[in-house]
Formats: sequence, structure tokens, C-alpha cells
Amino acid sequence: MRQLFKGVVEFQREGYAAHQALFTELSRCQKPHTLFIGCSDSRLIPTLLTNSRPGELFMIRNVANLVPPYKPSEGAFLGTTSAIEYAVQVLGVENILICGHSNCGGCCSLLTPLESQETIPHVRSWMKIADPVREELSQPQYAHLEMPEKEWMAERLNIILQLEHLKTYPYIQEKIEAGRINLIGWHYIIETGEVYNYNAKSGHFELIEESML
Ligand SMILES: [Zn+2]
Repeated sequence: MRQLFKGVVEFQREGYAAHQALFTELSRCQKPHTLFIGCSDSRLIPTLLTNSRPGELFMIRNVANLVPPYKPSEGAFLGTTSAIEYAVQVLGVENILICGHSNCGGCCSLLTPLESQETIPHVRSWMKIADPVREELSQPQYAHLEMPEKEWMAERLNIILQLEHLKTYPYIQEKIEAGRINLIGWHYIIETGEVYNYNAKSGHFELIEESML
């Protein structure tokens, strides 16, 4: 616990001091360009990964970077949907980025039997949003895959599925059609720092440097 408190004191002395003018500028409003939807995993640090400053990323963090499909009224998972609504409708973000990562515990749970998840009933229920990934990976064409490969496949199929879920939101679809919002999917590899960007045209993930060409 002491480590957390000490961290704040150090932030006030160093990090805050270094960005003081920016924090003053941001004190009354924010205009983030991107809604970053990332896994809650402690090894994924969005600002570090994208070299972003305070005020640039509006973030949603949840287990396995999931997006519930759109429902017109109340649903069970309003934490994520309300943040999406606010980011798009009020803040007017230009990009929505789904950022999954390697060694994702949530995605790994899609590869284990539901009966083995009795001690984590809320996670099990939340992960139903990614059921199509579980179903897809149980198909015979994936049977030959070894575990690390299968995990990557689950993480990547999950990113693609969540991008599809975003398109079920009428106000997002409207902005896509008007060319006013970009949907981006990334797979971040913890041990190498590499990021693979989903190329919607080819249907493949490619190293981010290739996507910049
Ligand atoms: Zn994760």
C-alpha cells in the first residue's frame, strides 16, 4: 500500500511538475482524439504504448477488451456502453481503438471449459460477449493448433469480434458511413513491444510499421 501513496508524492513532485502547464490547460475541458478500449491487464499501459500525453486518450478498461453488442435501452453491461456513448456523442473522438494483448487471461478462458470457472462467475458471465470466439475455435480447422498459437488466435478473433460489435451502435455506424470515425484493432505483444494492426481489407494482422506504409 505504501508504494501507491509514495507514488503519488513522487508524481506531484516530478510527473505533475513536468506537465503543469498542460494540466492547467486541461483543467476545464478535454478533447481526446481516441477512445482506447483495452484489457484491464496491468501490463498494458496505453499512454506508454502510444506515447500519448494527458488529454489524448479516453479509456475503457475491462476484462479482455470487450464491447457488448448494442441494445437500444438498458442492458446488463452499462459501464462500457455508457463510456462509448460519451466518447462518441459528447467528446466526438475521431478513433476507436480496440487493443488486445498477448497472454490475455480473459481470452485464455475462452479455451477452457466453462465448468472450470465456477470461482469466477462474473468473469464467466462477462466473457459470454466473446462466445462466438469460443465457438469458432472449437471448430475442427483449429484442432491442430498448439496452445500459444491458439491463444493468439483467440486474442485476434476477439479483437475482430469487438470491432464488429462497435458497428452495431447506430451512432457509430452513422459516423463510419460519413467518414468521421476510424475503427482500429491492435494486438500488443507484451514480451517484444510489437503491435500488430488489423487490416480490415486483407483480414490480416500486420506489424504496425507495415500499416504505416
Ligand atoms: Zn487481457
